[in-house]
Amino acid sequence: MHEIQVHNTLSGKVEPFAPLKPGVVHMYTCGPTVYDYAHIGNYRTFVFQDILRRFLKLRGFQLTHVMNLTDVDDRIIANAAAAGVGLRDYTEKYVQAFFADCKTLSIESPEHWIRATDNIDSMVRLIQTLQNKTYTYNSEGSIYYRIAKFKDYGKLSKIDLSGIQAGARVDNDRYEKESARDFALWKAPKPGEHFWETPIGPGRPGWHIECSAMAMKFLGETIDIHTGGIDLAFPHHENEIAQSEAATGKPFVRYWLHAEHLLVEGEKMSKSLGNFFTLRDLFAKGYKPSALRFALASVPYRRQLNFTFDGLQQATSSVERLRNFAVRLKNERFPAGKQAPMAERIAKGASDFDAGLSDDLNTAQALAAVYDFVREANIAMDKGEFRQGEVKAAQEFLATFDKVFAVLEDNDAEKLKALGYSASEGPDDAEIEKLVAERQAARKRKDFAESDRIRNELLKRGILLEDTKDGSVRWKRK
Ligand SMILES: [Zn+2]
Repeated sequence: MHEIQVHNTLSGKVEPFAPLKPGVVHMYTCGPTVYDYAHIGNYRTFVFQDILRRFLKLRGFQLTHVMNLTDVDDRIIANAAAAGVGLRDYTEKYVQAFFADCKTLSIESPEHWIRATDNIDSMVRLIQTLQNKTYTYNSEGSIYYRIAKFKDYGKLSKIDLSGIQAGARVDNDRYEKESARDFALWKAPKPGEHFWETPIGPGRPGWHIECSAMAMKFLGETIDIHTGGIDLAFPHHENEIAQSEAATGKPFVRYWLHAEHLLVEGEKMSKSLGNFFTLRDLFAKGYKPSALRFALASVPYRRQLNFTFDGLQQATSSVERLRNFAVRLKNERFPAGKQAPMAERIAKGASDFDAGLSDDLNTAQALAAVYDFVREANIAMDKGEFRQGEVKAAQEFLATFDKVFAVLEDNDAEKLKALGYSASEGPDDAEIEKLVAERQAARKRKDFAESDRIRNELLKRGILLEDTKDGSVRWKRK
């Protein structure tokens, strides 16, 4: 096993990872703002944090991971008011869609899913603490954070504060570095907007205070890892640090991990360019959940990911190749015995896989270790040089791979069906098995016309058959 190293945005360096309490990791991920369906750029970040949590678990850490649902912010308030419905009514559909999408992409549930609107009390208490420490001021019923008072402001995003005017304010939750100003912790209600009646007055929380309050409530004042997309580093995470550290006087987060942007065919994804995709857009085009997960996971998180349809096609083939190899290991009968070189080869593959992920979650390097092994093992099998005694170790290596990448189970069709998409109009598993058995029987009695007829019928319906050396048959959907 290799030492785990991660890139910490706070230090700007790759550092050895060691949690505060040995063996236990407290991790927070900024979840989606549930005002619409999340897009594939969002899912790039969520797949990254899933790979991270799965790898940490694989390495034996006990994980407490919190992910929030931002179900109150500027856009939600505006959209709900425009639709004339309450916040919960407005967001529920997108919350459920997000859960379903995560399940489809095999993104594990964190230990705690939490909603901002269930934690307003904690936000109010945190704002009161900041008021008592004079980090705030009031203006027209809203409460602002005085960034000039927090001397470390800018340490995460390395922003230059020299041009910033003390007392200038910004009311939007999202803004650029150039417009860095005192930001709203609590916003006075505008007519027709949803608000809470609280000891600090009527209103609603700003987006930034939500994550500070919830992270500390569920994970303590100093947490090990905070993840998010790189676009959240400023202002959101900078403001989280300012709020939390001003309140507690302690470091808020020990390792900040940020995933880079996703481009589509080399361009920034935008609705106006027509290259804006939700997961469902891609499922409707017939792409498989496993291929999408693989495509999003295969580029190391700190590299920009150029999402292309060619790449998605390649990911589909890669997953298929790995699944075929797993089936081959399971079904074929190899010559008995063991061979030291292959045993060593498997051990090297597993070690290289671990080395890749330990190196700041270099998924490309980890996958290369798996591909190289699978290619060499397939060649050895074709030559009759792979031995039965090696099967178990090879399967264990694949299982380790799949604990992190989670693509080997052939369940795309079921997943798509659960979301309301039919992957293909083809036959279900039971019918395929029945036809395959009939064809086997036909071959046995040397009725090759019938055997070919069944093969062609299945092919027309999108099912490929592959006869293996040992006489068994594998099938897969095209
Ligand atoms: Zn957040």
